[in-house]
Amino acid sequence: MYNAAARPQGARARLLRWYARHGRDLPWRRTREPYRVLVSEVMLQQTPVARVLPAYERFLGRFPTLAALRRARLGDVLVAWGGLGYPRRARDLHRVARSVRSLPRDPAALDLLPGIGRYTASAVACFTWGAPVAFADTNIRRVLGRVVLGRTATEREAIAIDADLMARRRADTWHHALMDLGATICVSRAPRCDRCPLFDPCVAKGRDAAPAVRRQAAFATSDRRVRGAIMRTLRERGPLAVDQLLARVADARAPRLLEALRSEGLLVVRRGRAALP
Ligand code: SF4
Repeated sequence: MYNAAARPQGARARLLRWYARHGRDLPWRRTREPYRVLVSEVMLQQTPVARVLPAYERFLGRFPTLAALRRARLGDVLVAWGGLGYPRRARDLHRVARSVRSLPRDPAALDLLPGIGRYTASAVACFTWGAPVAFADTNIRRVLGRVVLGRTATEREAIAIDADLMARRRADTWHHALMDLGATICVSRAPRCDRCPLFDPCVAKGRDAAPAVRRQAAFATSDRRVRGAIMRTLRERGPLAVDQLLARVADARAPRLLEALRSEGLLVVRRGRAALP
């Protein structure tokens, strides 16, 4: 567990200086509008930045405000979500829009909204209102863990380190900087320690990283592919007879997964025809 006595000296100032020169210019960092920040954080939960960039612009072009999203049909929201994957995220955003008139400032209240969770609530509160809350995504766990512990930290460890090291009056910049360092320098394989602003205080510097590659089960991967095929077919073709839909997807898992998607509210089946809700 993290011991504040091991606090790396000078890490905060070094990181913030590096970020001022090398930070990524991303559209969701140019706004403090809570809804836009929320959309970006939900999209980034399971999708790399490069794929989120066009989807973010497209989605906000279609639903520029929480009110616009509230008025939309879920089916249209799923179409705008497109092939970004994990469409439950789009469903949850839609549910959020229908459950509140505006997004609460308090991370605990944000956390209670559909599909948000502690990480996203903290990130939105920090990036929108500058709340000095500690949180850790994969990049932050890796950077803070390597610097202080010599290995990737657990989420709990990383949050404890973050709470201790954070630049409290610049919490948003601090977290963006950690994320960017993790995405561009302190990458999981072959970190570029020679270009790292945290080289001096880092416990893990120069070590051959042995990344813990978490392979997703082949079964789950395959399920996701088939779920994606069902949703894509409905987005592109519109309502279809269930038999036709299953024939197009052509996978033995399709009937089970179609039922799962229906029970999750991501499609409807009426009189033998499947459609987006
Ligand atoms: S010195 Fe290397 S291991 Fe340490 S934070 Fe920088 S890139 Fe990561």
